[in-house]
Amino acid sequence: MKLLVVARFGLAALFISPVFAQTLAPDAAAEDPIKAMVARLDLESYKATIKSLTQFGDRRQGTDRNRAALNWIEAQLKSYGYTNTARLKYDYFPTDPRRPSGPPASGADGAQGGGRYRGVRTPTGVNNDPLKQPDEKLRALNAQAGDVGPREEVYCTKIGTTHPEEMYIVGAHMDGHGWGEAANDDGSGTALVMELARIFMSPGVKTERSIRFCLWNNEETGLNGARAYIAQRAALQGKEEPAGSSQYPEPKWLGMIQHDMMLLDHGMPLADGTIPKAQRPEADVNIEFQSMAKLAAEAQQLAWAFYAANEAYATDYPAAVGPHMTNTDSTPFMDLVPAISLRENERGREIGAGWDPTWHQPVDLYATFSDKDFRLGLNAAQTTLGAIARLTGATLTK
Ligand SMILES: [Zn+2]
Repeated sequence: MKLLVVARFGLAALFISPVFAQTLAPDAAAEDPIKAMVARLDLESYKATIKSLTQFGDRRQGTDRNRAALNWIEAQLKSYGYTNTARLKYDYFPTDPRRPSGPPASGADGAQGGGRYRGVRTPTGVNNDPLKQPDEKLRALNAQAGDVGPREEVYCTKIGTTHPEEMYIVGAHMDGHGWGEAANDDGSGTALVMELARIFMSPGVKTERSIRFCLWNNEETGLNGARAYIAQRAALQGKEEPAGSSQYPEPKWLGMIQHDMMLLDHGMPLADGTIPKAQRPEADVNIEFQSMAKLAAEAQQLAWAFYAANEAYATDYPAAVGPHMTNTDSTPFMDLVPAISLRENERGREIGAGWDPTWHQPVDLYATFSDKDFRLGLNAAQTTLGAIARLTGATLTK
């Protein structure tokens, strides 16, 4: 590029002024293939995917509606062009639903906290009362209780052209609860991951490294689906199978990025305990790493890469980075691979203090959210798409 400029403008280019350099910048930006890839995301498509997920009610794990949602998600991934969708199978036998069996990722698990609450707090919890759902149809749809036993979750992989043996994991959980539609928690993250899977498989997109899109199950019971994935697949990383085939059933993990509750950033509860009806002007995408993770330094670096991608590619909302990633499927990964989460708010000190009145409640419905809310989720999608495209060496041919 520099040589070309010198050729066109001769010696004058050697004395190129900063102002002139800035006038060149838009052209350079227009040539950024990642910008064109991010432009393939759109609000209506993101909303439509969330809306479709809500046809299965709250998708509570261990129910027919959860299994139907899983089948639907897999069919969608296939329709995007993935021929390698796979299901991870595991068994779920709850002991204590919030303290499940199985080894925690580290001593920090459960003790890492999420930041100290400050300001007004409102109580949070999981609604288990069907009568709190006034919509009779939805109440009936959500009526079946979860069983115990075999479980499944689905993933698909964009295979890298030059480094198929390495991958980033991009995840969200497809299960929910609370007698609503689990539109925000976590239809919003599930739809984000599905939209990214669609775009990375769209015409002309190639990546040097691989990307795995995982739709975890059993998050709400204690991250059991993500834990099962680690238990079954961590040891398979980077192994070519069969030998000489250039196929890697489990590429080496380079990073894990979770998306969980993407829509609602209306601010702190008001003095009367209610949440503002409108989105706050300072709404942002919260990127969190965990400062107590063994790989905290690497995870922080990953978080800043996402922050930079937000600067470059998000159309409406900025990002903020925080050190308290907690209570989602990236937690069990955090000592094994740099792991971060993207959310509407900080999970610990904000969502935990009651900033989202829809959380695990009957009002977590598609109809609850405004276009501004959906657009915040879309900006998280732009952030992750841009960051992952950069990290995997994405190119676009037209
Ligand atoms: Zn969630």
